[in-house]
Amino acid sequence: MIGTAIVGGGLAGLALAAELADEGQEVLLFEARERLGGRVLTVADPGTGLALDMGPAWYWPDQPLMAALVAKLGLSAVPQHDGGSNLILRDAEGGPEPDGADPVHGGALRVAEGLGAAVAGLAARVGAERIRPGHVLASVTDCGGHVRLGFADGSEAEAQRVVLALPPRLIAETVRFEPEMPLERLAEMPTWMAPVAKAAVTWPGAPWRAEGQSGNATVTHDRAVLHETFDLSAPEGVPGALGGFLALDPGTRAQFGAGLPMLISSQMTQIFGKALEGGMPFFRDWAAEPFTCSARDLADPAARRSAAPAFLRRAHWQGRLYFAGTETAGRDPGHMEGALESAERVLRQIALAPPVRPAAEEEGLMGFAGWLEARETAAFDVYRHHLNQRLSRQQGTMVTRFAALDSVEAFFGEAIGVLSAVPFPEEEIGADGARAEVVKHVGTMAKSFLNRHLGEILAFNRSSCALRNFPAEHELPVDYVQAILGDVSRAGGGFLAEVDGLLRARAAAA
Ligand SMILES: Cc1cc2nc3c(=O)[nH]c(=O)nc-3n(C[C@H](O)[C@H](O)[C@H](O)COP(=O)(O)OP(=O)(O)OC[C@H]3O[C@@H](n4cnc5c(N)ncnc54)[C@H](O)[C@@H]3O)c2cc1C
Repeated sequence: MIGTAIVGGGLAGLALAAELADEGQEVLLFEARERLGGRVLTVADPGTGLALDMGPAWYWPDQPLMAALVAKLGLSAVPQHDGGSNLILRDAEGGPEPDGADPVHGGALRVAEGLGAAVAGLAARVGAERIRPGHVLASVTDCGGHVRLGFADGSEAEAQRVVLALPPRLIAETVRFEPEMPLERLAEMPTWMAPVAKAAVTWPGAPWRAEGQSGNATVTHDRAVLHETFDLSAPEGVPGALGGFLALDPGTRAQFGAGLPMLISSQMTQIFGKALEGGMPFFRDWAAEPFTCSARDLADPAARRSAAPAFLRRAHWQGRLYFAGTETAGRDPGHMEGALESAERVLRQIALAPPVRPAAEEEGLMGFAGWLEARETAAFDVYRHHLNQRLSRQQGTMVTRFAALDSVEAFFGEAIGVLSAVPFPEEEIGADGARAEVVKHVGTMAKSFLNRHLGEILAFNRSSCALRNFPAEHELPVDYVQAILGDVSRAGGGFLAEVDGLLRARAAAA
């Protein structure tokens, strides 16, 4: 039997598999497509050899995990070319107008080799013998001591634990769970950029740079093919390339079909002039990719990036099932940084022993209170473990905040498990009013538990020698503490909604 089975060979699944493989753990990575990388896709222009990122291209200076990955793999980080004047095209029949010269990409960085090189680097760390392409997950069954995966081709695999590193909406629409999971919670999270199409056009050089232009342009008229362009050239502008996002909706894109590249090239020429005639167009429609874009994403193309609910970030089935992927990230969800953050979180969760759930000796709220009392020391140990893991990975910023949130989410996950096991008399949870009282008491008990927990964290940090080198973590400033309290309160809101749903379901089943 496999130790850890990871499903989804995008950045999140690969990063987690690489870490587990480095640790010498038994891991297998199952991927639906024949290629790895998921939304990360670099194609080489056969004419110029230029690496073109047709999925993500940018990461930002405040994203330490991406910076560490690029450095560890020995790749070349280059600044996004943003200098020069920007253009705007307002009239379908007219020409472009100047639109200021402010950089528009927030100091973004690119990888000169293309982000596909990061995928290749991670895959090499995992090792081909641990990678199973062409495996489309169809079912996940909790067998008690292990989990069974069923694939669309009828094959199966068994593992001690499973990590699903694919977009939650795809899971909700295509995977069966036994026992059932609340799939509507998974379907809430939009798949970032899934309904989008990206274009690139290449030339031997970048003539717009010689004209003092940045390559950044916006197209605002209602016949726009691209609504935004940017420079995707090699660092010195040779070869040259412009990228762009399509303004057309997925249905219209499908209708234009093979005619789209020509429309893309002609819009580039309309914006940047005749010197750009004869470029080589490239195009990727992510909405047409069934292993990226769910039916719900297609119906909801304007969805924004939002933080994942705690439900997606905690262990399920007593530590046998986890969700990873950028849509589950607590920080930078939607971005590649979020994908890496989710991999780090699952790595830490797996490293922790599965929670031991003491049998409740009493029923109802007394049973829950008894468990809380027994849980106090363990909660602090969980915090210290997460903190040490982050420090040992040399993540010096916001370590307290993320380690505290990890420990609080682990606590809520276990508390849900306990509340689903403790017997509740029918009269306490059957009627709406009585159940609301129980939920309120659970909330009060959890709050006072967490207040003590956070107090212990602050006291520990103040006395910790390891944290002396990180003054903001050692003696937490007021706004930092408030940010932590905000995280805890958001996670607490989700927890109480879940407690209510759980007790309602138990009352209905009784
Ligand atoms: C056009 C575009 C531009 C973007 N630009 C940026 C950017 O500039 N910066 C940035 O940070 N982010 C950007 N993003 C987002 C970025 O690509 C994602 O955050 C990141 O790649 C997500 O990685 P992931 O591993 O979480 O998910 P994915 O990359 O989606 O990986 C999921 C994997 O699961 C596999 N899979 C799906 N279904 C199944 C199944 N049933 N069985 C088995 N395997 C399955 C998929 O094939 C895929 O390999 C962009 C995305 C797109 C599409």
